[in-house]
Amino acid sequence: MSWENNVRRVTPYVPGEQPKRKDIIKLNTNENPYPPAPAVQQVLREFSVDTLRKYPDPTVGALTKALSENYCVPEDQIFVGVGSDDVLAMSFMTFFHGDKPILFPDITYSFYDVWAEEFEIPYETKPLREDFTICRDDYMCENGGIVIPNPNAPTGIEARRDELEMIIASNPDSVVIIDEAYVDFGAETTLPLIEKYDNLLVVMTFSKSRSLAGSRIGFAMGSKKLIGYLQDVKYSFNSYTMDSVTSAIGCAALSDPKYFLETCEKIVETREWTKKELHALGFSFPDSRTNFIFAKHECWDAARLFEDLKEAGIYVRYFNKPRIDQYLRISIGTMEEMQQLVAFLQDYKQV
Ligand code: PMP
Repeated sequence: MSWENNVRRVTPYVPGEQPKRKDIIKLNTNENPYPPAPAVQQVLREFSVDTLRKYPDPTVGALTKALSENYCVPEDQIFVGVGSDDVLAMSFMTFFHGDKPILFPDITYSFYDVWAEEFEIPYETKPLREDFTICRDDYMCENGGIVIPNPNAPTGIEARRDELEMIIASNPDSVVIIDEAYVDFGAETTLPLIEKYDNLLVVMTFSKSRSLAGSRIGFAMGSKKLIGYLQDVKYSFNSYTMDSVTSAIGCAALSDPKYFLETCEKIVETREWTKKELHALGFSFPDSRTNFIFAKHECWDAARLFEDLKEAGIYVRYFNKPRIDQYLRISIGTMEEMQQLVAFLQDYKQV
C-alpha cells in the first residue's frame, strides 16, 4: 500500500504555449490583439494598495451589478468566476453529479473531458457531422447533462439558436451548458432563453472579446435556482475566488461598451480579410464566427506547417487528434500580424 494509491490521477489539460520570446506573432491562444479598454489602465493606476489588506467581497457584488446592468439580467441570476474555466469547472461539479453520462461533441473544447475525468463524471462524446456541424438529434437521448460551446471550438462554427433551443427544450431533466466564450465575434447568444428554460446555463468570458485573458474573469447566467446551487458549491470550495483588483478591472471593462464593440468589429473585419486570403492560398475552413479560423491546406501537411510557422516566429495551434490532425487553429491578430502570416504563406513551399 502506498500513498500513491490514494492520489486523484488526472491527465491534465494542455494550454497553448506562452513563449517568453517577445518578437513573435502570437496566434495560438485566441487572445485579443488589442489592449483592454482604457478605463482598465486607469483602475490599475489608481488602485489603492491598502485595499489588498482586506479580503475581497466574496459575492463580487460590484462586478455582478455591472454585469446585471450590461446584460439586463437580475443579479441573483449571475455567477462570477475566475475565468470561464473556473465557472465551467464549478458547473461540472455542481450539476453533473448523477449516474447518467453527460454529452458533448467529439471535437470541442478539450477541457470538458478533463473535468469529467477529474470529477468522475461519466461522459459520452457525440461525433460532429463530416462538415463539423452539431447533429441536434444526438442530444435527444437520456443523459446526465449537456455541454455545447457556441460557436464551437476549435471549429469556429455557430449552431443555429433554434436548434440549440430544441436541445434545451427536449432535455428538461438535464442542465444544458452553452459555453459562449466566442459569442461576441458575430454569433447569436442563447441568453434570452434563460427566461424560458430553468435548466439553461450560459457561460461567457472577458478573456477574448474584452482583452482580459490575463485577469481571469468569467461568468454564467441562468435561472435563480441554477445560480443558487452554483454559489453553494463555490462557497463550499473557496469563497474568495476573485480578488479585488480583478473585480475592479472587470467593472472598468464593462463601462466602455463603445470600445468593446469597436474592438470586436475590427477583429471580425480582420477575420473576414484573412478568410479571403487563406482561401486564395488553397486553405479550406468552416465559416468561423469567432476570433480564430480552423484551416486545412489542400497539399501542405499541418504538423509540418505548424513547425515551419513556429520557426519563422508565427505561433498557431495544432491538435494532434483524430479527425483534426490536418488543421491549424489560427487566432485573429491585428491586420499587420495577419498580413505577415499571409506574406509568409505566399512564399511557403513544402516538398
Ligand atoms: N471555453 C472555450 C470554448 C474556450 O476556448 C476557452 C479558452 N481556452 C474557455 C472556455 C476558457 O476561457 P477563460 O477561462 O479564459 O475564460
